[in-house]
Amino acid sequence: MNTTKKTAPTSAAKIFISYPPLSSQKGKPFLSQNRQFQWTNTGNIIYPVIPAYGASALKKLGYDVYWDDAIAKNLTYKVWLKNLITKKPNLVFIESKTPVIKRHWQIIKDIKKASSKIVDWRLKIILMGDHVTALPKESFSMCPVDYVITGGDYDFMMINLANHLYKGEKLEPGFYYRSHSKTKSLLNYSSNILNSGPFALKHHHLDVLPIIDRQLTNWELYAYENTNYKYTPGSYMMTGRDCWWGKCTFCSWTTTHPFGTFRTFSVKHTLDEVENLINLGVKEIFDDSGTFPVGKWLEDFCNGMIDRGFHKKIKFGCNMRFGALNQEQYNLMGKAGFRFILYGLESSNQNTLNRIAKLTKTEDARKTLTMAKKAGLEPHLTIMIGYPWEKMSDAQKTLDEAKSLFRDGLADSMQATRIIAYPGTPLFAEAKRKKWLLTDDWDDYDMRQAVMKSPLTHQQQEELIQNLFKGVLTPKFLIRKVISIRSLADIKYLYTYATKFLKKLQDFPKNPIH
Ligand code: SF4
Repeated sequence: MNTTKKTAPTSAAKIFISYPPLSSQKGKPFLSQNRQFQWTNTGNIIYPVIPAYGASALKKLGYDVYWDDAIAKNLTYKVWLKNLITKKPNLVFIESKTPVIKRHWQIIKDIKKASSKIVDWRLKIILMGDHVTALPKESFSMCPVDYVITGGDYDFMMINLANHLYKGEKLEPGFYYRSHSKTKSLLNYSSNILNSGPFALKHHHLDVLPIIDRQLTNWELYAYENTNYKYTPGSYMMTGRDCWWGKCTFCSWTTTHPFGTFRTFSVKHTLDEVENLINLGVKEIFDDSGTFPVGKWLEDFCNGMIDRGFHKKIKFGCNMRFGALNQEQYNLMGKAGFRFILYGLESSNQNTLNRIAKLTKTEDARKTLTMAKKAGLEPHLTIMIGYPWEKMSDAQKTLDEAKSLFRDGLADSMQATRIIAYPGTPLFAEAKRKKWLLTDDWDDYDMRQAVMKSPLTHQQQEELIQNLFKGVLTPKFLIRKVISIRSLADIKYLYTYATKFLKKLQDFPKNPIH
């Protein structure tokens, strides 16, 4: 299927992978791989791994690729837009999420308006991410976007679109686009939206992707401000797409990588990626696969880390589920250099874990954390409040359990957030069906306020989140932290973590900022 005429420029087309500046008094946007968008005051920044694969592969194919993360570069909107207009890219890929989609629509209008005044500027703008995967047609009616990529393999789709436009390659399923004869008027946004069929992921074999070009993608911009690193510089990778569980009803990535599509890079490719990072001087890696691969893959990877001597050179972190591994496997991870391990506790009520399809057992948390600690790992917990069915006593149970896990030295850090129903998720569909939704203004989906009805008031939710953060800081926990100091890196990390911990509290003010 050829949806557009193949026109110059050819292989030297200029491609921007852009994160335009987004300013708010609520903080900095924590976008990209973040499964739940937040404006944050912590300064944390996250390396967008999948777009980085896309950028690296496109460069290898001879395209002129520009990594344009204005959020990481702290550029003002004026400076960023001026630079973009001066460079006149042919393709601009923008990753968006629900709470910032309206801003991206306005930005696309601004860019298109500027490009319409420059005769020789052939420009196409492409939106990608979980929001547009859920609602691909919406953006065409709100702004003059040219293409929407659905599904989570942006890298493969970016390559395919560029090759389609400039080399005549067949367009893969998963694209939405305008019929070209009808796009002359910027006002007539919604005319003739076509698509290339429902997105498909399983034919994308990850090993065909190159090792990420970290220089091209300015890896150092992301190497220090992230509490997932104790040792810096740090960097991200993603060996799996995305989560072998893939069922949690609230998880925005279940829309982009639905259950049954989990794939991994081979162990060799992953180890080669680790080696490249070691050669760059990286001291700690966080792998952001939704849940890190388990079973034989995990064991082969750990043995590979040890055989290649990487366990002595770098620390490793990942996301894991309770109840997925045994003591032997945790011990192997400890030997292979794993340090940080992030678990979604979400709630300590079995009813909630069942309703959100997390389906872990409440008692598994303690068992798993005991094994991880025994293996020398430093577990981090993520907890959510504001479930439409949870009363104060239920939320209090989670708070009490979290406190007891920290008091008993089974967790080292945590993050507490409010549950949000994102478009496309099973939770959003349930919330619509049960009339739980309080707002359909996407700006409100930024975790600063409840978007679903709850037995708890806004104030109660804020207090619970604040209490979760403060409640884990028991004297016993603090004494244990001080005793555990072994090096300068430990002191630096504790200081950074404590500072960011306090800043994090500002992300949940008692009265929401609009
Ligand atoms: S375990 Fe659940 S929340 Fe975590 S990545 Fe997988 S589906 Fe998403």
